[in-house]
Amino acid sequence: MRHCFGLGVLVSLLWCGLSPAFAATQLHAARSASGLQEVAKGSDAEVRTFEPSSNVGHVFSLDRADGSGRYAFDNFSIAHEPRAYRPDVGALDFVYHNQEEMTRYLRETVARYPNLTALYSIGKSAQGRDLWVLVVSASPYEHMLGKPDVKYIGNIHGNEAVGRELLLHLIQYLVSSYSSDPYIKWLLDNTRIHILPSLNPDGYAASKEGTCDGGQGRYNSRGFDLNRNFPDYFKQNNKRSQPETEAVKDWISKIQFVLSGSLHGGALVVSYPYDNTPNAIFHSYMSQPSLTPDDDVFKHLSLTYANNHGKMSRGVACKTASPSFENGITNGAAWYPLTGGMQDFNYVWHGCMEVTLEVSCCKFPPAYELRKYWDDNQLSLIKFLAEAHRGVQGFVVDPTGNPVERAQLKIKGRDIGFTTTKYGEFWRVLLPGVYKLEVYADGYVPKDVDFMVVEQHPTLLNVTLQPSKRTTPNLVQQYPAPSINKQPTLDTVAALPTGAGLPSVEPDRGTVQFPDSGAGGASTRQPPVQRPTLVEAPVAHDAVGKQDRLIFTV
Ligand SMILES: [Zn+2]
Repeated sequence: MRHCFGLGVLVSLLWCGLSPAFAATQLHAARSASGLQEVAKGSDAEVRTFEPSSNVGHVFSLDRADGSGRYAFDNFSIAHEPRAYRPDVGALDFVYHNQEEMTRYLRETVARYPNLTALYSIGKSAQGRDLWVLVVSASPYEHMLGKPDVKYIGNIHGNEAVGRELLLHLIQYLVSSYSSDPYIKWLLDNTRIHILPSLNPDGYAASKEGTCDGGQGRYNSRGFDLNRNFPDYFKQNNKRSQPETEAVKDWISKIQFVLSGSLHGGALVVSYPYDNTPNAIFHSYMSQPSLTPDDDVFKHLSLTYANNHGKMSRGVACKTASPSFENGITNGAAWYPLTGGMQDFNYVWHGCMEVTLEVSCCKFPPAYELRKYWDDNQLSLIKFLAEAHRGVQGFVVDPTGNPVERAQLKIKGRDIGFTTTKYGEFWRVLLPGVYKLEVYADGYVPKDVDFMVVEQHPTLLNVTLQPSKRTTPNLVQQYPAPSINKQPTLDTVAALPTGAGLPSVEPDRGTVQFPDSGAGGASTRQPPVQRPTLVEAPVAHDAVGKQDRLIFTV
């Protein structure tokens, strides 16, 4: 396999007609991945080699490692599909759980699985209910160097209750399968999964089981639609920011999430950014797609969910009067434009690939139907998260090997940027192809790096920046505006959290540390200027089972 891999890289490079220097780097990378020990210097890049299974941390001078000796993709040695879920009888029934019951379940889970779970609250709802997040991971309390953090958010609309219960069952499935299912073990060994079952517990409390339609309980207790309450890329959002929204903004400014799904009900489709469009009035009469520069990736992520779902990809309309969606996916604005949605905010401000998962035609179906919804969504929920392991990831370091924090990155041709964490990490979900990474950091010479992404495994790309004598010039020039005619306003930029230090979330127990993701602390984070260029991440789930991977340092 490894020999085939190396040859495949060479053939691909020849076919693509890449520059000899790049080809040499790539070929060298292939050799490195095959275990050959060799150091070479290209015309414009230094290639360092190391054993694929070694702890890459020694390459850099990092102030913290995960301490386990594992790194990045060392555990890509398992090739399995997730196994069928065998309910952990007695642990979680297929019934709805109110705030108190949900809290009890989450606490009991942490008590039963202390090595796999951590519970924290990102804040409180307007009526004072905790917004619980349960982390499921082999490293629940600490960011794993080089490995992505991902999240699911449920119940942002309080009366859309299926997603809330699906996420509780997902937790149960993950913790109870870790020791018996190699796929789940791989996923939790290489990913930190943050699950927020209910972002709108007040709305949920005002909702009624058996109510399929309508708006009772949709909004928070002050009457605000939380999925219209975020800063917007295209339009000024004058809605007063709500505590639940503020909690999410604070949360995702401190943890660099690579991938995210927000669970809704009332339709059966995956909707992907953009939700809004520069000319929404016109679009409201004739909905047109509003596509991101990462449209190929968003379509792929959406199809991953729909195709693994029991019925979503058939695209059958919920009702005769409802729209049907080809393959079970749609661009958000093509369905209907909206201002202040959460997924556009995640993507534009934080480089997090978030999609909206509409998982039930009935918003709050009777509890006896929950098992059916779980059966339909179980595989989708798992396979979607594993997509965080597709594309490119790596570190940006200085010549001495120290990480470069908040370096600004962009894939050429994709004008939504992202940044490195305080450990110099970055991730970006990309489909197979040849790309150019543009790297800028204050005080360093900008650098462009060619790289390739393949289907079978993530590409590890490490970038060394050389110091410059003067600081990087105006970032606006470095990041030309996307081909959209509106920049975020200063008001929306100012709305970003600027608090200092690590998360001010409340631990559930006195001893619980807030799981620090390694994202840049807010104290060092500057609000985006002119256009947000933030966080990012990922790499490929079908990489499971592939020991080979591209590893090259530039
Ligand atoms: Zn909804």
